[in-house]
Amino acid sequence: MTLKCVKCESKFPYLPSLGRCENCGRTLEYDLGLPKKGKIKFSGRFSFWRYKILLPPARHQISLGEGGTPLHKALRLAKSLDLQKLYLKDETRNPTNSYRDRAAALYVSNAVDLKHNTLVCASNGNLGASLAAYCAKAGLNCHLIVPKLVDIGKLAQMLVYDATIEEFGEILDDSIGKAEALAKEMNWYQATAELNPLAIEAQKTISYEVYEQLGVPDYFIVPMGSGGTIYSIWKGFKELKQLKITNSLPKMVGVQPEGSPSIVKILVEGRSQILKISKPSTHALAILVSQPLQGDFAIKAIKESDGLALTVSDQEIFSAELQIAKLEGMFAEPASSATVAALKKLVETGKIDERNSVVCLISGSGLKATDVLHALTKKQKTAKVGLELSTKEKILRILSEKDTYGYELWKKLAKTMTRGAIYQHLNELSEKGLITSYVKNRKRFFKIMERGRKVLRAMDDLKLLF
Ligand SMILES: [Zn+2]
Repeated sequence: MTLKCVKCESKFPYLPSLGRCENCGRTLEYDLGLPKKGKIKFSGRFSFWRYKILLPPARHQISLGEGGTPLHKALRLAKSLDLQKLYLKDETRNPTNSYRDRAAALYVSNAVDLKHNTLVCASNGNLGASLAAYCAKAGLNCHLIVPKLVDIGKLAQMLVYDATIEEFGEILDDSIGKAEALAKEMNWYQATAELNPLAIEAQKTISYEVYEQLGVPDYFIVPMGSGGTIYSIWKGFKELKQLKITNSLPKMVGVQPEGSPSIVKILVEGRSQILKISKPSTHALAILVSQPLQGDFAIKAIKESDGLALTVSDQEIFSAELQIAKLEGMFAEPASSATVAALKKLVETGKIDERNSVVCLISGSGLKATDVLHALTKKQKTAKVGLELSTKEKILRILSEKDTYGYELWKKLAKTMTRGAIYQHLNELSEKGLITSYVKNRKRFFKIMERGRKVLRAMDDLKLLF
């Protein structure tokens, strides 16, 4: 087994794991030297370590129960897209709720094998959260370099698992440089995904699992940040083919947010250099990068598989997230939802149709990315409870001052709605026993009841809380 440069093909010993090629500075990859003959047999229960025969050796196995995640047949989502065979690989079911637990298990096992006490990683979220947990399990110090923009739920995980957190830079690209320098200076174990190719090996187990659960799909859709994840999955399927376990391969589809499109641009515009996007922006923070260090890998996966790459807007990501939740009962993080947003586009343009089988990688849980939660609660409040309540509340407040008749009420509400609508509200308030009415000087006056006053007081209390 050796480490091989993805660009100049220089070879290095597989340990200690190098971050970059010493000749050209590009990323390295493990070459396992697969057996040419004889059948490989996976053994043990359906989990990450079942595939250890195709992973770099780990004498210690630090495990929290990673891998072995479900592949859901998404019937309702498929129907809404006019598809028949759509599957979601549910990586939210890992111990810290993202696919990065696979990489963390292998990194921390490797760090223990090499007798390191401290591990360093630049991460904008999921990997940092995973490593913090696995380091806790193994009793290692976990030093995380995080950029300013991190999903708050992931930060909470890092904190609770007791990692040391150092904020450095605006986005992930800045933090990676810092982690690279620190590992050298302190002789810490390097566990940054972009600088240690063990992550690729760990994540290829996703393909082995999908193969055992379904076989080889026609399309596999993966969110792209630095570009390593899509390559891991491609590598997994390629190995299964080399081992003659299967003879087909999926087409790999890579998705990036419109505001962070570096890899897609290279492919669409036929550029040769990895592009640097000067001010990348998206709410899908897990795939926010300026210059993807493993872009070479992603491009290789997409080209070799005859696949494709596309971008989706944050709005498309957000609606896909709601659709996955509403139709399949799964709460995916924005980066993961980008796969379904992309699928929708590919169906609309006729690139994928009902004959195709498709797997979308749901890489992490939506509970980790709380900006979406904020947007949702705001939406719920204004769309459902908020507006409706506010008119009824206004009526109650006016009536709590003095008894009022309909026309006067309408004027006091600044004539913002029809008088019919106001009478509708008044009827509903009466039915609930919050107000009553009486006739005086041939006008119908409305009057707040004790129950109505209680409701107003309760609302004031609630407002103090929020
Ligand atoms: Zn090289």
